[in-house]
Amino acid sequence: MTTKEAFAQEYEKSLYAIAGKGFEESDIKEKYYALGNLIKSYSGELWHKTRKKQNASSEKSVYYFSMEFLTGKFMKKNLEYLGLFDLAEEFFESKGVCLGDLFDAEEEPGLGNGGLGRLAAAFLDSLSSLGMPGHGYGIRYEKGLFRQGIKNGYQEEIPDNWLVDRNIWEHKRYSEKLEVRFGGRIDYILKGDKYTFKHADYNVVYAIPYDTPVLGYKNQNVNNLRLWGAESPEDLDLKEFSKGNLCGAFNKIDETKSISQVLYPDDSYYEGKKLRLKQEYFLVSAGIQDVVRNAVKNGIDLKSMDEYIAIHINDTHPAMAIPELMRVLMDEHGLEWEDAWEITVKTCAFTNHTLLQEAMEKWDVNLFRELLPRVWQIVEEINNRFLNKIRNGEKAVSLTDIEKLSIISHNTIHMVNLAIVGSHSINGVAKLHSDLLKDRELNHFYRIFPEKFNNKTNGIIHRHWLLSANKGLADLIRDLIGTGFERNPIELKKLLEFTEDSQVLNKVESIKHNNKIRLAKYIFDTKGIKVNPYSIFDIHAKRIHEYKRQFLNILHVIYLYDLLKNNPNLDILPRTFIFAGKAAPGYYLAKEIIKLINRVADIVNNDLTIKDKLKVVFLENYNVSLASLMIPAANVSEQISTTTKEASGTSNMKYMMNGAITLATLDGANIEIRDEVGDDNIVIFGLNDYEVNAYYRDRNYDPVKIYTENKRIKNTVDKLLNGYLGDAFGEFQPLYDSLIKHGDQFFVLGDFDSYATAQKRINTLYKDSQNWSKMSLVNTAGSGVFSSDYTIERYAKEIWGVGAPERKD
Ligand SMILES: *Cc1c(COP(=O)(O)O)cnc(C)c1O
Repeated sequence: MTTKEAFAQEYEKSLYAIAGKGFEESDIKEKYYALGNLIKSYSGELWHKTRKKQNASSEKSVYYFSMEFLTGKFMKKNLEYLGLFDLAEEFFESKGVCLGDLFDAEEEPGLGNGGLGRLAAAFLDSLSSLGMPGHGYGIRYEKGLFRQGIKNGYQEEIPDNWLVDRNIWEHKRYSEKLEVRFGGRIDYILKGDKYTFKHADYNVVYAIPYDTPVLGYKNQNVNNLRLWGAESPEDLDLKEFSKGNLCGAFNKIDETKSISQVLYPDDSYYEGKKLRLKQEYFLVSAGIQDVVRNAVKNGIDLKSMDEYIAIHINDTHPAMAIPELMRVLMDEHGLEWEDAWEITVKTCAFTNHTLLQEAMEKWDVNLFRELLPRVWQIVEEINNRFLNKIRNGEKAVSLTDIEKLSIISHNTIHMVNLAIVGSHSINGVAKLHSDLLKDRELNHFYRIFPEKFNNKTNGIIHRHWLLSANKGLADLIRDLIGTGFERNPIELKKLLEFTEDSQVLNKVESIKHNNKIRLAKYIFDTKGIKVNPYSIFDIHAKRIHEYKRQFLNILHVIYLYDLLKNNPNLDILPRTFIFAGKAAPGYYLAKEIIKLINRVADIVNNDLTIKDKLKVVFLENYNVSLASLMIPAANVSEQISTTTKEASGTSNMKYMMNGAITLATLDGANIEIRDEVGDDNIVIFGLNDYEVNAYYRDRNYDPVKIYTENKRIKNTVDKLLNGYLGDAFGEFQPLYDSLIKHGDQFFVLGDFDSYATAQKRINTLYKDSQNWSKMSLVNTAGSGVFSSDYTIERYAKEIWGVGAPERKD
């Protein structure tokens, strides 16, 4: 693409343009901006060509609507995808600067909570890397999610000011701004024999597009991630200003801007907040208007829009895309209801991400109607027509079913119902999850629309989690099976030829060891804790949630610690338990769990009598960068959610790809991982979905009985209260109560024995290091099917009707 000399010259110019400085004079941040700017000049040309090609072609485009995109940083990725990484590294090395320091100077955008946002980013990556026209629509949250600190063991939330300096990757396109309307009233106007609707007295918010190029992997393809920022059309309130009320003069602007200020820090939880409803409509309205504007500009007849455009709704958060598309087609382009409805359903598709009741979005009708009067009318009409149709349909539908099917009931709008009625496809995100949707949670819809339901197991970007995050392992794999797996990761299966090759197994072990040393150094630098890289690295990193059961893990650590204290010569291998993850600021028990982990860490890490056999570490501010450091260093991957609660999980796939052994319940995609590697290469424990569902059905789970009858469990749980953990205030009473008083909703006690046995098995397995490395290699070999490239190929073929390019081997 470019030569060393040209690169050096171009970089110098870029530095002049960005900072007005030379190399020696500029600081690391300026060097970073200058390199980012140079990368953009390379990718910008490709972007322009891609756009031209896409506009001229009749190929179907995908628009992926998501409230979250957890992209991770861009610089390293863009260098890799342009094939410029080595050149850049060499250049900076020759100047005595470490390229990694430039990467460290980049702020990671916190535009997602966890798995859902990361999946959206993975899909954009795969769409681009497969050369398909597919673009993202999201919100440019100025403060993103909060940054997590730990103070006295407690989580602290610090505002994430990721945009204070500048974001070199984005392009603000002010001239393409759109109007989003809130509030007001609807007037009816009779035109001929037809009523039309006129929205009046509304408030306008400007939606300003900020575009970030999404590069494909070494394929010249560049798609777009368009994030919307909210601005007020009013400069300031001149009346208030001239009255001398300077604060009041800015009120309206501040209120408007708040729409794109922060991402709600809830994962798998829903709160009926007005600002969140505004955010969702803001995204959807700007996005739909933009899609239709583009279609019209490209000469697409809106009546056949579904042949050129697919709109994907990531969870129910952007489900208002359905009534909004109806509104634009009818009110702005004059289509009749029937035509608009047919196009809308054919164009829209929806992914469900959870079975958790507390995560199901519902909106109060009064709030909704007041804020979005026209959209409300359309939702009401969609519901009336839908209910009429099923009442008059061939299948008999019971009254209880009608209530469950209705989009509006008890003065509430049920967004999942709207999303299903208004889409041609609804998919779950792992086999078990999709089956539970069909058979249980959404069975009433399945009986009416069986053809809409399908499964699309989630995936991960193997380019990131293997090629980039674990260069050592990727190099070994290239030596063994060539480079074909880079484009066709299923070829990782070829590694199975080497499972008896002790030289290869030794290399697998030493690569893992190096990754552990790297993480141990980070732990020492950030926490001052010395961990032994020869110990088993047992990692549990994800959002802190009762259903993800960090509580079960740390209770087991307390149990182990007690065993060791009573018998320092106990025959167990040294183990380092590493945790990371943010808790929603309002989720009290999750924050208590963080505090408990940190308390146990304090005690265990400072107890000399246990001879360093146990260490506990909580790493702060879990994000994509930290995950990229942790996951390649894991020996054990903790995937221990209460069965039926984790829809898919994706970090389970990342660990597997990096050769960690999964310690798991048969939940989400863990089941599919087990199917890939076989029972000998994974450690499974706990209640299965039948048992969990039977407990729910029969209401006969009895944690108190377990607690009173099982001495080991009682001894461990009592330590939460009896001063063993060195607290005087009954600090962990609420955690204790969640088990004993409030029914242990997540079966922590029910699974404790089974978990302890599984952990013992891990210990035994690790003793045979050759066999462990063999298991590790089998896991990497089986991980190719979880590349998001394959997930996207299935979405393309089975949901969007987009022609994925043929695979060439
Ligand atoms: C992959 C990933 C997640 C999702 O993790 P799960 O264990 O599947 O919940 C969350 N956060 C980050 C930063 C990730 O990279």
